[in-house]
Amino acid sequence: MAQRRTLIAGNWKMNGRRADGLALASDLAGRLKGAGEVPFELLVCPPFPLLFPVGEAISDSPLLLGAQDCAVKQHGAHTGDVSAQMLVDAGCRFVIVGHSERRQDHAEGDALIAAKAAAAHAEGLIAIVCVGETEAERDAGQANAVVSRQLAGSLPAGATAANTVVAYEPVWAIGTGKTATPQDVADMHAHIRAELAGKVDAADGVRILYGGSVKPGNAAELMAVPNVDGALVGGASLKADDFWAIAASC
Ligand code: PEP
Repeated sequence: MAQRRTLIAGNWKMNGRRADGLALASDLAGRLKGAGEVPFELLVCPPFPLLFPVGEAISDSPLLLGAQDCAVKQHGAHTGDVSAQMLVDAGCRFVIVGHSERRQDHAEGDALIAAKAAAAHAEGLIAIVCVGETEAERDAGQANAVVSRQLAGSLPAGATAANTVVAYEPVWAIGTGKTATPQDVADMHAHIRAELAGKVDAADGVRILYGGSVKPGNAAELMAVPNVDGALVGGASLKADDFWAIAASC
């Protein structure tokens, strides 16, 4: 069985100014340094303008840097876009693609997400590809089918355990305080693991994160579920104490 290192990723979304981001990242970097050997990787994904200052502030620490999105193209006349090449320049190792807020707010579809993941891979970034059903889809018994379709469409050719992480984030659990039950998470992560076989090289090594209202109080239970290889954390990643407590519960 492949060894999968736990990944705890913080998605700061559109929150914080430079001083807030620097304080949060420096606090986490300090805790990580002080902790020595830990059984997890810790990743922060600030908004674009904070990538360079945060990247510089944590450059001598094991705290990892990621972005929340990237463009398909690497440079040129694409106003408002930020390329994977630029993310690497800022010190990023990871990029989230296909977050449900981008699928909803920017009408991003699977083909575009696959193209973004491929662009990330081309620059050596690890793509965190997000999938997850809405509440209506779950209520209609469509959760597995929706996630299968998203995986089939959003994972680019060339996805491997080394360059791709999948995040299962039920849309109804994001920022709502509602969490999927450990049994629901176990069932969906087993489904995703089975779907990855044949689609991704070395599929058994792909890390599958759970995301959706993960907090210090529920993290240990969720992280103990089979095939849960870490968490993608939104709200609770904005407080160093909470984010650190989530990581420490692994
Ligand atoms: C997210 O944005 O990926 C997320 C899971 O948010 P929250 O933890 O706030 O539900």
